[in-house]
Amino acid sequence: MVDSARQHCAVSVIGGPTTVIDIAGVRLVTDPTFDPPGDYGYLQKTEGPAVPAEALGPVDAVLLSHDLHADNFDRAGRAFALSCPVVVTAPTAAARIGRPAEPLALGERWLSPNGQLSVTALPAQHGPADGERDEDGFINCEVIGFLLESTDQDVPRLYVSGDNASVELVQRIREQHGPIDHAILHVGAASVPAKFGGRPLSLTPERAAAAAEVLGAHHVIAAHHDGWAHFTRGFAATEEAFDMAGIGDRLYPARPGGWCHLA
Ligand SMILES: [Zn+2]
Repeated sequence: MVDSARQHCAVSVIGGPTTVIDIAGVRLVTDPTFDPPGDYGYLQKTEGPAVPAEALGPVDAVLLSHDLHADNFDRAGRAFALSCPVVVTAPTAAARIGRPAEPLALGERWLSPNGQLSVTALPAQHGPADGERDEDGFINCEVIGFLLESTDQDVPRLYVSGDNASVELVQRIREQHGPIDHAILHVGAASVPAKFGGRPLSLTPERAAAAAEVLGAHHVIAAHHDGWAHFTRGFAATEEAFDMAGIGDRLYPARPGGWCHLA
């Protein structure tokens, strides 16, 4: 299980979209959510984190795909993020959060303090392609994904999708940035009746398998598929979809709080 001991290169899914990433001497937490189960109005959290925030020890940065939705940034997750040295996130989210958030516009890079890891902001589309846009022009809201890479050739290139429902965007990311070694995909086919007629706000299992093929990813770690009532397709469905596509061996088994070693 995850604790404060750092791994060489590994990812752990803590629950919902939240992962811990140890890479290039840096510890990152993505989309922090650490609340116990509870009611958030239109969203219901059904499971708490596999590991409490206190168990993680010091974290170098939080990567936050978006701040407006509780399933990606709950109350305890927000408190955790504000206690970290930096929260790397989309410009609109950074403006709302204030310090220690740093805005990362699409294509911009954040360099880790040890100089070993760069994080590039990638596009994400939080709903169907024809979904209505918010006042800032984004489908649902502004969301970014992340590309993690290092000048050290031994460090794999890692893609974190954030809440993205579009395979077309994944294709564009592949064309622009080249092959990806491993991917953390937000799956679960999140669905809220009031939004876009209940159509998926994140990848369905089948579209996640397609995204994995497009990326050429050796390994996929599925996140954002359990812990909330509006995640309509669980890990078993993702397993089946990868198997149906003939790429079941690329999907890491779900083991909340356990490590997926990548190098
Ligand atoms: Zn969201």
